[in-house]
Amino acid sequence: MQHLPLFARLDKRRCLVVGGGDVGARKVRLLLAAGAEVTVAGPALSDELRELRNAGKIHHLDGEFVPGDYGDETGGGPTGTGNAPAGPGDIRPYWLIIAATSDRELNAAVARAAESANRFCNVVDDADLGNVIMPAIIDRAPVTVAVSTGGSSPVLARWLKGRIESMLPMGLGAFAGLAGRWRTHVRDNIGDLDQRRRFWERVLESQVPESVYAGREAEAEATLDRLLAEWHSRNPEKMGEAWLVGAGPGRADLITLRGRQLLSQAEIVLYDRLVGEEVLEFARRDAELISVAKTPRKPSIKQPDINTLLINHVRAGKRVCRLKGGDPMIFGRGGEEVEALVEAGLPFQVVPGVSAAQGCACYAGIPLTLRGAAQSVVLTTGHTERGIAEVADFSPGQTLVLYMGVAKYAVLAERLIQRGYDRQTPVAVVERGTARDQRVICTILEKLADASEAHAVESPALLFVGETSQFAKDHGWFAPDRLIIHP
Ligand code: SAH
Repeated sequence: MQHLPLFARLDKRRCLVVGGGDVGARKVRLLLAAGAEVTVAGPALSDELRELRNAGKIHHLDGEFVPGDYGDETGGGPTGTGNAPAGPGDIRPYWLIIAATSDRELNAAVARAAESANRFCNVVDDADLGNVIMPAIIDRAPVTVAVSTGGSSPVLARWLKGRIESMLPMGLGAFAGLAGRWRTHVRDNIGDLDQRRRFWERVLESQVPESVYAGREAEAEATLDRLLAEWHSRNPEKMGEAWLVGAGPGRADLITLRGRQLLSQAEIVLYDRLVGEEVLEFARRDAELISVAKTPRKPSIKQPDINTLLINHVRAGKRVCRLKGGDPMIFGRGGEEVEALVEAGLPFQVVPGVSAAQGCACYAGIPLTLRGAAQSVVLTTGHTERGIAEVADFSPGQTLVLYMGVAKYAVLAERLIQRGYDRQTPVAVVERGTARDQRVICTILEKLADASEAHAVESPALLFVGETSQFAKDHGWFAPDRLIIHP
């Protein structure tokens, strides 16, 4: 993170804008909206700023602005005292300084002075000069959304702002205001923090926001009051629940909508090795994220321990998201966790995910079924608890998809040949499918081990065996630069 976003309370705090043109005026408007006491420095004022000065809304420091120099010695905070002489160029009385002149040298000098006096300074249109940058702002006071690209693309920031803007109801601020007024009352009524969160989530899904957006505040307050009264009769105990959620094959945008909703509500997230970091971003910021990674061929947490962890947290009243790579019910041991939950008599939900077979097939351009070429799909594994799997027999028109077992491709290929597969059968290995660095390696069955070794294939990788595998050569639309055709 290049910049830490903060929301500054500027009411009645002194701020300085150097430059009285139209650019400066835009910043002055923002500062005034935040309640700041604004001084504008510079020889000329725009019409708007002149009017503001005449109305006594801003101060004006006339003449060329010459910022002081504070050397290494600093003021130690906005009320501190430095050694540089106080005067019109003194920037120390200000919390925030904005350099908005068209003179790059002057802007740089203002930024240097601010830096040496430990003040925040923004240089308009030059992210590198100052020490703070201004975000694009969506204002639904008291809700504020700020978007920044770290100064790299203001156009992108504005575009994002537009997208977010269109998602947020206009009445959002009014709803936030109502929630703010009820906050203490609700806290007094629902002591437990988790419970209180759930109450507010319930409110968000209720009629209350719509009533507010429709301008019916009294109705909204009455509903809120009723929900609060009902809360205690309906929730005598804090109920936990387990949610087995498929996170998809890695890309954050391939999780389902439902999965994402539940993930963002969970208090605890138990996640697997194959769950992408970006997906975890959907979790609540205060959620406890616990890795229960099982790494191939390394000592790691055992399945019974994961079951126990899950059960204990649900029993303690937590909403636990058990987040699994791909689909929870496909080589995800979801069935075992469900069994443990049923035995423990605990409530749960299971949300499907895009399994590696589907994700990799789509992102590699391999049809799993195709008229005239493949009528059935077998999802199997190259590896079981007892070692190499008993792979499937050859059957015409069948696409075979093998999960796991990357290290055993040589043995697996031999087994498949013993089971009737032609040595020339097309195969494709998809490594880190759907991820930015996905690789696809196309070859034939007898050269599988060779290809895998030559290109140092690593887990996670998926093996496709069958006629349609070769479509990856011409139909691979994603990351085509990393398509390898092994001779
Ligand atoms: N439940 C998961 C599978 C877990 S088993 C699912 O439905 O996808 C783990 C195996 O899945 C890995 O060894 C690998 O064979 C496969 N896999 C998972 N994600 C993958 C990915 N992004 N690319 C290629 N293979 C993947």
